Amino acid sequence: MGETTIEMARAAINAAQRVIILSHERPDGDAVGSLLALTLSLERVGKNVTPVLLEGVPSRFRFLPGADKVKTDIPSGGDLLILVDASDLQRTGFPIKTLPRQPDINIDHHPTNTDFALINIVNHQASATTEILYDIIPQLGLEIDTEVATNLMTGLITDTIGFRTDSVTSRTLEIASELVGIGAPMAEIYARTLNQRSFVSAQYWGRGLNRLERENGILWTSLTVEDRELVGYPGSDDADLVNLLATIEGIQVVLIFIEQVGGKVKVSWRSRPGVNVAEIAFSFGGGGHEQAAGATIEGGMQEIKERVLTATRGSISLSPEEFA
Ligand code: 5GP
Ligand code: MN
Repeated sequence: MGETTIEMARAAINAAQRVIILSHERPDGDAVGSLLALTLSLERVGKNVTPVLLEGVPSRFRFLPGADKVKTDIPSGGDLLILVDASDLQRTGFPIKTLPRQPDINIDHHPTNTDFALINIVNHQASATTEILYDIIPQLGLEIDTEVATNLMTGLITDTIGFRTDSVTSRTLEIASELVGIGAPMAEIYARTLNQRSFVSAQYWGRGLNRLERENGILWTSLTVEDRELVGYPGSDDADLVNLLATIEGIQVVLIFIEQVGGKVKVSWRSRPGVNVAEIAFSFGGGGHEQAAGATIEGGMQEIKERVLTATRGSISLSPEEFA
């Protein structure tokens, strides 16, 4: 990251008193961890910070230090707006026209990031946005204490699914080691974020598992609003089913179609190296990483399934990788 970009961010932060920080809708551990790490480190130097998530903090992340500070409405009157782990302006889930200003600072690791802010701190090589934050928090004149470290570690562990993705580098592991040194409770974070799920999540998975379909190297299923109502699942996501499906052998691409209220469908893709699903997601207005991407598309389930599967088949046939 260029010196001047960080200096500009540092100057903007020094000049601000009321800071608003946002991340993406259906927040994952990197979204919540990045949001809270930056919030706590800015509060320590006397800033008035409001972290905001459209749907609040999902229950499995409520153990994180600072989670109780998160609001679900954007306050008026902030003088600095920061977005973390969000690759475009739509990602916060709030209508763009309700954002208080053009974002001042954008901190993210998605290759599909659109550089929407005045100051863009974007590194595609980082395995998580919290990996970037680990380096820039001190450069911004802020401190990483145990609570900040816990949030940073949560982003690393969740976005890499426990250090299992291609995006993990020796630097990622070095940072993880340093965070443990600062006091981040690695085993507890693992247990709470990756190794623990509610009974209703398993029932919700069951509905999706019943509808699994497979065609050549593509595997997909869907989850509906009715599924969530029937089992009492509180979120609007897939309870991480897509990552379970991604462990099935002989598959190149996994997709999940998650019906949303208001005539939209959230699509998640996971792929083996050789199929770039970020490009497909981007063509549907979404984004993400080569091997994990998503998009929220307006329309009905059936129509979206057909369009998305057609585009996905096209990208597989372009790739010569063999599959069972
Ligand atoms: P997931 O499928 O788990 O929601 O997300 C996989 C990856 O794609 C994550 O890096 C996530 O940030 C990104 N992603 C998911 N949905 C969207 C979307 O609607 N727009 C964009 N730009 N990225 C998305
Ligand atoms: Mn992330």
